Amino acid sequence: MSRPAKGLQGTGGNYIPKVLALSLAATLEPGTVSAILVTHDDWCAIYRGGCCDCDPDVSIKTAAEALAEETRN
Ligand SMILES: [Zn+2]
Repeated sequence: MSRPAKGLQGTGGNYIPKVLALSLAATLEPGTVSAILVTHDDWCAIYRGGCCDCDPDVSIKTAAEALAEETRN
């Protein structure tokens, strides 16, 4: 189990650095809407009101892809 980096505790936990890195590396199309999806492990503390303490999957989807994925789950 991984822990939030020092200085990030209480600010959302493990997923914040992954979201920032992905958003900086992404090539987004002008005039489009994109969503960053964060998928946590079932046991992650974020589901109990804590900070993320898992190693979440982070991905960028178009708005339509994100909506389709949300309605599927
Ligand atoms: Zn998590």
